Amino acid sequence: MFDVRVILGLGLVALLTISSYNPEIPSKNKTTEAPKQSKTLFGFNIDNYIIDEYPIHQNQFLSNVLSYEGIKFEKIVQLENNSKDIFHTRNFKAGKSFHLIREDECADPVCMIYEPDAFSYVQYFFNEKATVRKVQKQVDKITKTASGEITGSLWDAMISQDLSPALIDKMEDALSSSVDFYHTKKGDKFYLIFEEQFVEGKKVGVGDLLGASYENDNGKHYAVYFENERYQGHYDMDGSPTKRKFLRAPLKYSRISSRFNRKRHHPIKKKTIPHLGTDYAAPHGTPIFSVADGVVQRVSYTKGNGKYVHIKHDKTYETKYFHMSGYAKGIKKGVRVKQGQTIGYVGQTGLATGPHVCFRFWKNGQQINHLRENFPPADPLPESDMEEFYKTRDEIKAALDLIPDPNPRETVALLAE
Ligand SMILES: [Zn+2]
Repeated sequence: MFDVRVILGLGLVALLTISSYNPEIPSKNKTTEAPKQSKTLFGFNIDNYIIDEYPIHQNQFLSNVLSYEGIKFEKIVQLENNSKDIFHTRNFKAGKSFHLIREDECADPVCMIYEPDAFSYVQYFFNEKATVRKVQKQVDKITKTASGEITGSLWDAMISQDLSPALIDKMEDALSSSVDFYHTKKGDKFYLIFEEQFVEGKKVGVGDLLGASYENDNGKHYAVYFENERYQGHYDMDGSPTKRKFLRAPLKYSRISSRFNRKRHHPIKKKTIPHLGTDYAAPHGTPIFSVADGVVQRVSYTKGNGKYVHIKHDKTYETKYFHMSGYAKGIKKGVRVKQGQTIGYVGQTGLATGPHVCFRFWKNGQQINHLRENFPPADPLPESDMEEFYKTRDEIKAALDLIPDPNPRETVALLAE
């Protein structure tokens, strides 16, 4: 199966404008000001503590460094034990660094800091209890807008324009019910309102895509982000979710290695053995997700299927995922899963010649080819939520319509009349 992004890449974006933006758009805990530099670092006031950075080298023992810095061996062992369930010191990576914090230059360190990712840090206190604590950093958000026109340039052009692949993914997801991204055309235009996430003043990722519109020969198509206590996601102007009720595949970036075929001729057994599923080949360990919301019916193993998960989505549809290497945490009988939630990982347990997932789809108890099925649309928002939705929708639509045209051509339009 082709990755949509690759195809899109052949047809996307040269003209692009990105700008900071301050629309009055309802959104949870959003800031529209640039994040301020804080006076504390890793939870310590920088005026009262000395914070030194230590690069981590290949084949270096943490205990050696800490002993040299005056920490007793028993304390190091105690800390290692206490870190097991939070972030084990064994998982410190060469090439990164940790920090030691002291009250003054001559004192022994009071705390060690390690940052596993951009969103958190871990404090290892050299106190009596050897406390270990993981702290989530504050994520600031800035709302931005972007617009672009498809001119036939390449995926690289888009990357060089500073539009992240994650944002393109989100645009495709949000508009997939009204725009066919396999057939984008030169001259198509798009408009986006989105959040950028910052930690300590550094850009770390894209947040929610608050609104998107796409203009092609069929007119202008909109998707808006709406969230309340019960619902969350992208909706069209009528309040219908823009996501499909079922995803086309249970994993990303895979290829179909064997299609659904009732008359498959088996090359070795020399007879017709139907293949009532679709095989997706992917590297060992690739996350497999549920193609729709549902309830787990079974997490089991058979000699043929290997490790598999069975999910019931509604009274009509059920899915199964075979040959997993393992199940995702918390996946067991009776558990509710969301569309896109990881339920297990690609493997080759059972009868499988290579790592893949054999994906099986049932409709009213019969196995079907899900790639040929016209699924019913996802349910729209209930009447009781519509007033709230319309308010959000109108504000976002107005803001989308205010984003400047990436390539205004009034003259051309006049001539065409
Ligand atoms: Zn199969």
